[in-house]
Amino acid sequence: MRAKARCNVPGGDSREFPAGWCGAKTGSMTDERKKVWVKSYGCQMNVYDSHRMADALAPEGFVETADIADADLVVLNTCHIREKAAEKVYSELGRVRALKRERAAAGHDTQVVVAGCVAQAEGGEILRRNSGVDLVVGPQSYHRLPELLRQARRTPGVVDTDFPAETKFDVLPAASREKTLARGVTAFVTVQEGCDKFCTFCVVPYTRGAETSRPVAAIVAEVERLAAAGVREVTLLGQNVNAYHGEAEGSGAASLASLLRRLAAVPGIARLRYTTSHPRDMAGPNGDWELVATHRDLPELMPYLHLPVQSGSDAILAAMNRKHGRDEYREIIDRVRAARPDIALSSDFIVGFPGETDRDFDDTMRLIEEVRFAAAYSFKYSARPGTPASELPEVPEHVKTERLHALQALVDRQFKGFNAATVGRTVDVLVEKPGRHPGQLGGKSPYLQAVHFEDSAAAIGDIVPVAITGVSTNSLTGERVGAERTRMSA
Ligand code: SAM
Ligand code: SF4
Repeated sequence: MRAKARCNVPGGDSREFPAGWCGAKTGSMTDERKKVWVKSYGCQMNVYDSHRMADALAPEGFVETADIADADLVVLNTCHIREKAAEKVYSELGRVRALKRERAAAGHDTQVVVAGCVAQAEGGEILRRNSGVDLVVGPQSYHRLPELLRQARRTPGVVDTDFPAETKFDVLPAASREKTLARGVTAFVTVQEGCDKFCTFCVVPYTRGAETSRPVAAIVAEVERLAAAGVREVTLLGQNVNAYHGEAEGSGAASLASLLRRLAAVPGIARLRYTTSHPRDMAGPNGDWELVATHRDLPELMPYLHLPVQSGSDAILAAMNRKHGRDEYREIIDRVRAARPDIALSSDFIVGFPGETDRDFDDTMRLIEEVRFAAAYSFKYSARPGTPASELPEVPEHVKTERLHALQALVDRQFKGFNAATVGRTVDVLVEKPGRHPGQLGGKSPYLQAVHFEDSAAAIGDIVPVAITGVSTNSLTGERVGAERTRMSA
């Protein structure tokens, strides 16, 4: 059963909603500005897209609210990667429709938008399954939101899942300085979208389209704006971010490594990260290992690499169309560790891909033992309509469940071991927020570990050396041991 919370509703009354639906208001009940409530499902690219949608709506007079009951516009920014993620959207839409009816009874209009990859994949089917939806908009058309909303006001039930010629990045407005600051000192910036790899289990090439990279100049301008507002750490996002090949500032195409070097020169930016990478693109198009060398040479690039392998079995990797084997993956890891010995590694795993035998699964477990990850995301294989793997006979559910539990237990031991090994070391912590109690601050280590420490002098955005003294379930505790750093080191 989902937890409930009481939220205020128009007219000064209150009602029960699922927990998380209501929160601190950005305006009072008498505030006449239009309110938008945006919920992101799935990956970090959706979080970024949600921010950009809110930014596109700001010139139309919309302010964000944390309270859905107060929202004139509800946007669900959806994920289609697994069946469960897509089904969640439909159950949420049932609750949103009930809320829309209640608000209508109190004299308030509510527009409902389904955006993201479910919108792209299911289009008009969403309108057929849920009559409360006014607009269905795919990930490439967010810049058209204001115009589409006007259209949907005249005739509800608009669907836009085109891949327009103009790119949304060229026209989406930037967030104000205040809004950027309110979002925190770390930020995501999408630099690459779409995918041409066509792994046999994955919907991304169909929902996000062909691979495209943004020009370096546009990314630099966005990062400069973020830095001017106080952002200290930027994570570059892409479905295959290390396949980045955007237009360089001079001529030709830039690599992800050269983009990272360029962004490290932006005043105020102290930390850079990137995700998600594909093993096939670690070597670069000319077989150079420039990106790996950048982990050695660029202090601003944090020692963390998320490199999904999905499986440790050559047969399954081939059936997944990953275009590399387990030895190639091991070789990449060896190179990365030679360049940056302390690097934290993370990965994604799918268990129960069609045809996966006990032996294939053992190969995956062995690979995890050999590599030793600091973190990992693992999923039961979920057949996605239209993908080649969905035609194959499935591994029984109970087998998937057993394998997932075994894999997660192993990864959890490695996660705990990695954290425990940090005790006794001093690491630089970027302060992101107040801690759980007064006088405490919370931030991240270079290895993406959550760290809490007592300090009355440091401010949000500072990078301070912290001696790690303890470890709890998901975070580290420590004591500050020196002055703020201006440049990063681990
Ligand atoms: N581009 C990245 C790569 O190649 O590794 C992955 C991006 S995908 C959005 C994120 C993760 O979702 C994948 O790494 C995979 O583990 C998982 N995933 C994708 N499709 C899936 C499916 N049909 N069933 C289960 N997990 C899936
Ligand atoms: Fe999906 Fe990643 Fe494979 Fe592309 S490379 S198809 S995004 S899993």
